Amino acid sequence: MPELSTVDLKGKRVFLRCDLNVPIKNGVITDDGRIKASLPTIQLLLSKGASLVIAAHLGRPKNGPSEEFTLAPVAKRLSELLNKGVKFPGQVKGESVANLAASLLPGEIILLENIRFEPAETSKDDSERASFANELAAMADFYVGDGFGAVHRKHASVFDLPKLLPHASGTLVNAEVKVLKTLTDNPERPYGVVLGGAKTSDKLAVIENLLNKVDVLAIGGGMVFTFLKAQGKEIGTSLVENEMLDEVRGLIAKAEKLGVTLLLPTDIVVAPTFSTDATPTLVSVDAIPSDQMGLDIGPISAISYAEQILRCKTVFWNGPMGVFEFPNFAAGTKTIAQALTQVKGISVVGGGDSAAAVRALGFQDSQFGYISTGGGASLEYLEGKELPGLTALDLG
Ligand code: AMP
Repeated sequence: MPELSTVDLKGKRVFLRCDLNVPIKNGVITDDGRIKASLPTIQLLLSKGASLVIAAHLGRPKNGPSEEFTLAPVAKRLSELLNKGVKFPGQVKGESVANLAASLLPGEIILLENIRFEPAETSKDDSERASFANELAAMADFYVGDGFGAVHRKHASVFDLPKLLPHASGTLVNAEVKVLKTLTDNPERPYGVVLGGAKTSDKLAVIENLLNKVDVLAIGGGMVFTFLKAQGKEIGTSLVENEMLDEVRGLIAKAEKLGVTLLLPTDIVVAPTFSTDATPTLVSVDAIPSDQMGLDIGPISAISYAEQILRCKTVFWNGPMGVFEFPNFAAGTKTIAQALTQVKGISVVGGGDSAAAVRALGFQDSQFGYISTGGGASLEYLEGKELPGLTALDLG
């Protein structure tokens, strides 16, 4: 695969797959990090004299087009950030879109509507995806893959389309892969990983794989309670995945056998309900009331996690330590973010949601070593899985 900077794209139409999946509330973008992260490749392609057909997804629309998942606010924000017009046809494909693409002059940009409005994009049927990819390929001369947050998906615009056109990876994908490769192949030790977020099932495979590689593994977020229950503790009404208990017991035993420092909280902030104004109470992990739920790790745990993080030369963090969206339950996440900013070595915040969390808590991107735009993608990379979107770009 050629290096993008060396390809002659003067007067060419480039199909650019970006990850513009930003959080939007009531039509307003609350964190434009992924749009900003896509700008360098867009600007590089424009400077080469190409015109661009940009495709991206937003959320997980299930039933075709809907107002909730339109990319219209993204087109507007992209245009503001680039300080130039972005044509938004309001459709993914069709005659008018094809005509618009055909009429593009060098330097002009179209942003297609949410690519997932077409069911063929995410279809499990290879031939459905391939035929959709063929329609997309007709709009361009060259493909650039830069949507890192979607490279773990075997989707038409990510996996099938690059096979139909000469292609290259974008600068964001290259930067993401470089950082993750360092973490996978050659992390400076001690190597610590902090995992949080809501669901244990999402993260068990990565935990299993990482136990062979890390020195410290800290667990926070809703996942904590499946671990605590697996240890026989009362967890009240906290989030739990009962079908994972045996697997979690296996992981705890494996960590011990391998000499990995597995950090679980010793204190928890509990509340009677899942709401922003619920009264927080700090309790020991051995005294979680049966009618309350854990919504954050406590301060003693957070400080002890921070101490371990600061001992590490390489740290990867994915997933908040608690319900950071509610100020009463954001302290654990804040303490961990703060520690990451002080790591003497590489600190990587993995994932669009984790990145949005640290920004929402007032941190700047520049305080961290690297902020990955892809949560699921970076976890699957660390898990050692083959990622379809990277394989298709000959990076797998
Ligand atoms: P994920 O998408 O799996 O990274 O999960 C992120 C979400 O996990 C955030 O929206 C948090 O509010 C939520 N979360 C973190 N800790 C807890 C907890 N103890 N109970 C319920 N939800 C949590």
